[in-house]
Amino acid sequence: MMSSPPGDLPVTFADIEAAAARLEGIAHRTPVMTSRTADARADGKLFFKCENLQRGGAFKIRGAYNAIALLTPDQRRHGVITFSSGNHGQAVALAGRLQGVAATIVMPNDAPASKVSATREYGGEIIFYDRYTESREEICAKLAADRGLTIIPPFDHAQVIAGQGTAARELFQAVGELDVLLVNLGGGGLLAGSALAAQALSPRCRVVGVEPEAANDGQQSLRAGKIIRIPVPRSIADGALTTFLGERNFPIIRALVSDIVTVSDQMLIDTMRFFAERMKIVAEPTGCLGAAAALAKRAHQPGERIGVLISGGNIDLARYAELLR
Ligand SMILES: *Cc1c(COP(=O)(O)O)cnc(C)c1O
Repeated sequence: MMSSPPGDLPVTFADIEAAAARLEGIAHRTPVMTSRTADARADGKLFFKCENLQRGGAFKIRGAYNAIALLTPDQRRHGVITFSSGNHGQAVALAGRLQGVAATIVMPNDAPASKVSATREYGGEIIFYDRYTESREEICAKLAADRGLTIIPPFDHAQVIAGQGTAARELFQAVGELDVLLVNLGGGGLLAGSALAAQALSPRCRVVGVEPEAANDGQQSLRAGKIIRIPVPRSIADGALTTFLGERNFPIIRALVSDIVTVSDQMLIDTMRFFAERMKIVAEPTGCLGAAAALAKRAHQPGERIGVLISGGNIDLARYAELLR
């Protein structure tokens, strides 16, 4: 398989460095946690980057803020719009408010209540759609055209990818080089950005994407060497229900990602319980993908140093209790 030379990729590590400078004092430099119990279970040394403690409850503020910061004055006056299963919508609403840019968010009508109310609290205007019968991209494109809004997509955007890459950059800065980095995968913004950061800061590190079993379009795509689309999957990992990787994300993933593995919903629940009981960490199901793969030894050898991005912690308390009962 031919992989493109890094020079051809749509985002560079310099873009991540520039994003990090813009995010200084805006995004939290989230803590990295360790646990001897987790290490014993995984038979490795785990470093958990806690983006569940990020502003907005997930890493998405990084990409959203970076993309909005680069708009022209005219684009900022008209406002932005996005479609999202929740965390990106919340992040665009928050990033918009922080930069004085009005934000409209197109959200599925079954999005978790906590994500909907948080988006409202951040000042975003919400427009609902049915994820099983309507195309969010079409609704978003029409509203954007009618109202002159700029679309801030959740993953297929160079400056979103660059912003998301700042989380892994901070992890490498905090703990040094790693053998493996496990990255939760939906449309590939976090994975593409993390892979670029790893290539620059820990070149021997294997970067591995982790998807829900039912939503393994990324795994299929990496194996096929082209973007594979799947029907809308059902999984408790509501932040990873994307049906295809982004066009900008895929070439980066293809060039720099070693493998993509999957975990079951039951493994996500077990990991949520482990985090709550042993580490006092509240993570949403999607936030547990990489950790579940680490605890199940899906992508590492004994004794390796493993980075895990806990990508988010947004979950209704009632839903959390229901899953852990
Ligand atoms: C969006 C999201 C992901 C997936 O990110 P992509 O950039 O779409 O791959 C993973 N975890 C959480 C918590 C998210 O909100």
